[in-house]
Amino acid sequence: MLNLILFGPPGSGKGTQSEKIIQKYKLVHISTGDLLREEVANQTELGMKAKKIMDSGELVSDRIVIGMIRKKLEEHRAGPGFIFDGFPRTVAQARELRKALTDYDEEISVMISLDVPREELVKRLLNRGKETGRTDDNLETINNRIDVYEKQTIPVAHYYDKMRKYVPVDGMGSIDAIFKRIVKVIDQLK
Ligand code: ADP
Repeated sequence: MLNLILFGPPGSGKGTQSEKIIQKYKLVHISTGDLLREEVANQTELGMKAKKIMDSGELVSDRIVIGMIRKKLEEHRAGPGFIFDGFPRTVAQARELRKALTDYDEEISVMISLDVPREELVKRLLNRGKETGRTDDNLETINNRIDVYEKQTIPVAHYYDKMRKYVPVDGMGSIDAIFKRIVKVIDQLK
């Protein structure tokens, strides 16, 4: 199995690149942000709780997120592998992911991290807010999301770097140029 983590700050292009990666490598896409937005759209109890947290830019509890991940892993255990997008976002989540994958005798193959400067992130997210109406894409929430990323999520990169699984990729340029850089990293794994 090929199990990728696509890592990077909000607005770094994880969703866009994930779509291209799943087309080429036929992986199962797990985006915790998408899963949470689905709960919000379906107005489930979990969704109602999560919406407030997401609109403030803070992180939803590890317990909730891990629960969603375990369910997806079980559903697609016989598949070609996974691409994790927006997860793990805390070191506790990374440890739980490791345990969950171990239950299937699997592990993370690589973490690909998209590097994009903060000014560009803010520009992209404000633009997405205008185009899609995503309620967490307003200036105040965007700034908090990037702060939360720097404090709580950057340590996850160190966690994989220690295992020699962390590969940074330049996230600036055209969508296709960035995708080519990602493909190069993945194809070197085989
Ligand atoms: P972005 O990466 O653009 O901020 P996401 O769609 O990945 O957007 O996440 C949106 C929001 O959903 C986050 O700000 C957070 O509140 C919540 N969320 C998503 N994934 C996680 C996670 N792994 N752990 C905790 N909260 C999460």
